[in-house]
Amino acid sequence: MNYVSTRGYPRSFSAAEAIVRGLAPDGGLFMPDALPRFTPDELNNMEQQDYAEVAASVMARFLPDYTPEELSRFTREAYSRFGADAAPLVDIGEKRFVLELYHGPTSAFKDFALQMLPRLLAAGARKTGVSERIAILVATSGDTGKAALDGFADVEGTAIQVFYPAGGVSDIQQLQMTTQRGANVRVTAVRGNFDDAQRGVKAIFSDNALAERLRAGNIRLSSANSINWGRLVPQVAYWFYAYSRLVRRGVLSRGGKMDVCVPTGNFGDIFSAYLAKRSGLPIDRFICASNSNNVLYDFINTGVYDKNRDFKMTVSPSMDILISSNLERLLWLLAPESVPQLMRSLAETGRFALDNSALSALKAEFSAEWCSEEDTLKEIADAYKGGYLCDTHTAVALHAVKRAEKPTVVASTASPFKFPAAVLTALGLSPDGTGRELLDRLSNETGQPIPAGLAALDPKDARFFDTVEPDEMERAVTEFLL
Ligand SMILES: *Cc1c(COP(=O)(O)O)cnc(C)c1O
Repeated sequence: MNYVSTRGYPRSFSAAEAIVRGLAPDGGLFMPDALPRFTPDELNNMEQQDYAEVAASVMARFLPDYTPEELSRFTREAYSRFGADAAPLVDIGEKRFVLELYHGPTSAFKDFALQMLPRLLAAGARKTGVSERIAILVATSGDTGKAALDGFADVEGTAIQVFYPAGGVSDIQQLQMTTQRGANVRVTAVRGNFDDAQRGVKAIFSDNALAERLRAGNIRLSSANSINWGRLVPQVAYWFYAYSRLVRRGVLSRGGKMDVCVPTGNFGDIFSAYLAKRSGLPIDRFICASNSNNVLYDFINTGVYDKNRDFKMTVSPSMDILISSNLERLLWLLAPESVPQLMRSLAETGRFALDNSALSALKAEFSAEWCSEEDTLKEIADAYKGGYLCDTHTAVALHAVKRAEKPTVVASTASPFKFPAAVLTALGLSPDGTGRELLDRLSNETGQPIPAGLAALDPKDARFFDTVEPDEMERAVTEFLL
């Protein structure tokens, strides 16, 4: 198996090269030139495996140049901080099963990928003979930043700089990032929204003069955003794991199909589920749930992707995105030849349109829903009345599946304690006070413990206070790295 660019670059790459590079030389995203095919026997075996074992078996099939021993060690280490069951599956009735993906060190699902990526990158650098220091640049709408910082902090041979939209993340998220420890980390606020920050990072990546200066300093840039294959492939594993638990519990018979519903921003998480299906996991349909930045809802319903619309700041900020980068990978699977032209159109006009055959192929497997701010809060209250406490992002997904016809796995992407102000408001309680007071109030009210990483947050530990304009991001990078 080799990796190729979604935009047709005329050479292929090993998995390790794809991970170390992050982005293909022509600006496309890496995809395997052939997907693995898991046999029914392999799926059955997973019923007896724990999370780390399932993850190692799944990833081995996508990363042939990493040894099974390496992957077993990496997954064992990466998921050791997730609690006894890394991804609990909770039956909330109406054939809905919430897959809680927030029991990692930073209480967001991005930990699944970002505790693995540093290991994949460091090993990948060794395999490809890269000796430079690898500098990770991240644009974050909130959760990626902290999860990446935690994953890379003090990892030898790496440095990490995170850019987040000033005022565009929750107080808790901001505090999680600005208190990050480690000698190789830097956190910088950008005056703008997530797309501004992401555009800035992309511009830095494609700046050849800068790359030259960095190379002279023995530094190579790489990405930890979900466009990196090393971010996506660990996420494929939890869909296999969820399926194996449904079968083990007798909810599904072997080979029976499930649906999945995913609160979506950059299209990474839902695309990882799609990869699982294309690799043989019995998934029927995908429900793509958006907040009021509902560009994907329109796209899936009409075939027209149009980011020319107001950017909205919502109570589910990790989904406040108008350009869903990983969608390019789905387009490549549906209509590979069309990708360069669609992406050119997106860059030049902010929109593109699928042809009818690609649109029907999309609609055959995907449906979309979106959820207003008001409905997000109402959904939290309703779920809580039904006995389940969830965060704002999960609420957007639950809103899309009030009841299901077949067993449906709903991804829960963050702990309710990461967004306590919104959750308290939804429950009819006061959202006023410091981050710490909100955490305590939510815990006292619901009887649920504050996750350890959040309980330890203290504003006195903040280390990073800089805010820059989007056009100053490059200077912030050179100041940090050179
Ligand atoms: C990142 C994130 C999402 C969106 O995931 P994508 O892979 O970008 O679609 C949803 N919820 C939370 C809490 C997140 O952090």
